Amino acid sequence: MLYNSTRNKNLQLPASLAILKGLSDDGGLFVPQEIPTFDKTFDELKELDYRELAYEVMKFYFDDFTEDELKSCIASAYDEKFDTPEIAPLVYAGNVYYLELFHGKTIAFKDMALSILPHLMTAAAKKNDLKEEIVILTATSGDTGKAALAGFADVPGTRIMVFYPKDGVSPIQKLQMVTQTGSNTSVVGVNGNFDDCQSAVKAIFNDVQYNKELKEKGFCFSSANSINIGRLFPQVVYYVYAYCRLLKDGRINANDRINICVPTGNFGNILAAYYAKRMGLPVNKLICASNDNKVLFDFLKTGVYDKNRPFILTCSPSMDILISSNLERLIYHLTGNNDEKCASLMNSLTGSGRYEIDADMKEQLSDFMEGFATEEETLGEIKRLYDDTGYVIDTHTAVASYVYNSLKDQLTGEETVIASTASPYKFASSVMKALSGESVGKDDMTLIDELSSISNTEIPQAVKEIKNAPVRHKNEIEKEDMKKAVTEFLS
Ligand SMILES: *Cc1c(COP(=O)(O)O)cnc(C)c1O
Repeated sequence: MLYNSTRNKNLQLPASLAILKGLSDDGGLFVPQEIPTFDKTFDELKELDYRELAYEVMKFYFDDFTEDELKSCIASAYDEKFDTPEIAPLVYAGNVYYLELFHGKTIAFKDMALSILPHLMTAAAKKNDLKEEIVILTATSGDTGKAALAGFADVPGTRIMVFYPKDGVSPIQKLQMVTQTGSNTSVVGVNGNFDDCQSAVKAIFNDVQYNKELKEKGFCFSSANSINIGRLFPQVVYYVYAYCRLLKDGRINANDRINICVPTGNFGNILAAYYAKRMGLPVNKLICASNDNKVLFDFLKTGVYDKNRPFILTCSPSMDILISSNLERLIYHLTGNNDEKCASLMNSLTGSGRYEIDADMKEQLSDFMEGFATEEETLGEIKRLYDDTGYVIDTHTAVASYVYNSLKDQLTGEETVIASTASPYKFASSVMKALSGESVGKDDMTLIDELSSISNTEIPQAVKEIKNAPVRHKNEIEKEDMKKAVTEFLS
């Protein structure tokens, strides 16, 4: 399997090099030349545990790793770091299945991929005789940062630097990041929003001269953002796993189709579901759920992507994004893998902040359905589900849950799996506001105790840990100074 850039088909790299590079030099994203199809039936796959299934999916995408290398990465990733041996449990509540993707170290779905990325990356470095130290630069809307820090902390041969919008993450998210240990870690608050952070990181990656200077000093950049194929493809696994669980538990019959509903920001998680479908997973609709920053909703509805609009801070901050990077991969596939056409649309996005796809491409969007939830609808959904079932979901999952319920009359009776992307403990103040209407003024730790008693669930280890942890990262900067901060970190 070779990977092209979405903006240059002549570029061809094996998986390990694409993982090390993260982003292509031309600004494009790496995409597989062909999308593989399963070589086993779901009746066979349903008997596998998470790790075994992970191998059956990833072996197609990371095929320049040996079986031993890949299996060892998988074994190191999906172990006791997860608080359940199932890794991704499926919970039935209110006529729909919640696929809980938050049982890893940092209680958000980013752990599903960031638990394995450092292992893939160090294996790839070895395979390619990389001499330089790998420097992971990451912009985060809250959850990626902590999950990447947890994954890369004290991994030999790597350093990691995380930029977050200083007023754009939840208090728990911020505390999780600024208390991060590890001698190779740096966490910096930026006076700007997520898109500012992400654009500056991309600019640093694309700064040829700067990269050359750092290479001479023994460093090379890579990305732990969801643009890295080492993050994208591990995410395909849990959709296949969910399907297999439904099959094994007799909730569906062989070849029955399901719907998958995903709370979406950077378009990584739902893109993984799209690849699962293209690989042969029986999926009817991929439902893209947005919050008030509904740039993807508008795009799927009209074929016009337009980021020129106010950036709204919501109670689902990990979805507060106006430039959904991974959408570029879908665009590329919709053009019939036409790199020039894709590059021209992306140039238009960089130039005017807007592009429009043609009728042919639009037609292929029929795999998707779209919806969005306002702040009030999001909080209302948490309360509704709790009142109906006693099950508590976080704000991001609530966006998806609301959207599914608003669209379900247009669906054709399939079972639906909702990606549950964070533990409600991570967004305790919003969740308690939804449930009791009176979180205002109480500190987060009090609310966490209340959430535990109201939901009858145990406080996750990740939350207990930060209660008394010292703050190690106090640096806050202007967005123009991000490159300078990188230089300082590396000197
Ligand atoms: C990152 C994140 C999302 C959005 O996922 P994308 O892959 O960026 O679309 C949704 N919910 C939570 C909790 C997240 O951390």
